[in-house]
Amino acid sequence: MKKIIKNGTVVTAEDIYRADILIENGKIKTIGNELNENNAEIINAKGCYVFPGGIDPHTHLDMPFAGTFTKDDFETGTIAAAYGGTTTIIDFCITEKGKSLNSAIQEWHRKADEKAVIDFGFHLMIGEVNDDVLKELPTVINEEGISSFKIFMAYKNTLQADDETLFRTLVEARKHGALVMVHAENGDVIDYLVNEAIKEGRTDPIYHALTRPPEVEGEATGRAAKLTAIANSQLYVVHVTCKEAVEEIAKARNGGFRVWGETCPQYLVLDESYLEKPDFEGAKYVWSPPLRKKHHQESLWNALKNGQLQTIGSDHAPFDFKGQKDRGIGDFTKIPNGGPSIEDRFSVLFSEGVKKGRITLNEFVSLVSTNAAKLFGMFPNKGTIAPGSDADIVIFDPNSERIISASTHHMNVDYNSLEGMKLVGEPISVLSRGEYVIRDKQFVGKPGNGRYIKRSRFQV
Ligand SMILES: [Zn+2]
Repeated sequence: MKKIIKNGTVVTAEDIYRADILIENGKIKTIGNELNENNAEIINAKGCYVFPGGIDPHTHLDMPFAGTFTKDDFETGTIAAAYGGTTTIIDFCITEKGKSLNSAIQEWHRKADEKAVIDFGFHLMIGEVNDDVLKELPTVINEEGISSFKIFMAYKNTLQADDETLFRTLVEARKHGALVMVHAENGDVIDYLVNEAIKEGRTDPIYHALTRPPEVEGEATGRAAKLTAIANSQLYVVHVTCKEAVEEIAKARNGGFRVWGETCPQYLVLDESYLEKPDFEGAKYVWSPPLRKKHHQESLWNALKNGQLQTIGSDHAPFDFKGQKDRGIGDFTKIPNGGPSIEDRFSVLFSEGVKKGRITLNEFVSLVSTNAAKLFGMFPNKGTIAPGSDADIVIFDPNSERIISASTHHMNVDYNSLEGMKLVGEPISVLSRGEYVIRDKQFVGKPGNGRYIKRSRFQV
């Protein structure tokens, strides 16, 4: 089945131009003026931008966390992503100590393969590095197509890796062609501050933020960047929240080192004061790293604008307020960390970024799609509109207005952390490999239609 998108304005990371797009067999076949083809379905994109599908490089669907699971599975989560203009996600596959990496990967396929409505890849979390794990890495990269590994510098006594583990992973990643991702916070210092707070009866949600100050993120980011330089390797810092971390990334990049950074919508539009909401509502805004004081938002926008940060991930990890977040009443350490944002990532960046004059249209496409495709081994199949690329396309009305609300969102969670926020710009139709997933704002896709993406080895 052929389709021609007509009358739209095509926007890529490089260009903005009026043209028609012919889609055939799931791929973009031709881009040109006045295209005609027998039997092709015509899609009228008049008044709309035609963007490459969004790529969300940071999701946690159906993820176990402290005896519970994130509320969205691969079906509800990818449907919500598609409504929001995202056509590819990379989800974090969690490994367990003492079990093979392969068994963790198979477990993630069981969660995803029959459910996803858009294409997906996996990152692998590395809990420990031992000889068995090292032996498996080349297979994971070359056979499974997983070319990025995540290390935690926080969560002492559970997920936290020591510097040796991080360093060895960096060395192996360089050897085999993978990108190391870090959660950069100093877990030892946080553990001390948290214990002091609990001992002294400071148990409300706001103390989650106050026991993880921006300096512990800056310190860990700088340390990871320096270890990367020593290993002559490559590093991607997930969910950067603050000036201190941005400065460390900028310093490393200016020194010529291969360090990249991601931030998330919540850090661009919400701040620490939300954790002080009454009636325990502050728990809805518990992420790690935490929301920061408002002035950090300007550092993040500047970093997106000047290229010191390259991607926007949602870090989607939704937990219901009732029944999950409320486990932390009287003890903020028991509040599940994370929030819902897979659906609004794309539109928030457009509305707050492009519409408010902070970034250009081309920068928007780079941040929301192209840069992630390049860093994570999917370009040019994903992340752009070009002949031969997958026809993952968002037809986006830049003037449509809507108000974010849990009563209308498609995520399987009982609140929205951006409740009441007014957005300008909205996806109208979304194609995944040439097939409608969203048509005129209605879901028309099918669970299982999303394909697993074997990603290439790291190369930039
Ligand atoms: Zn995360």
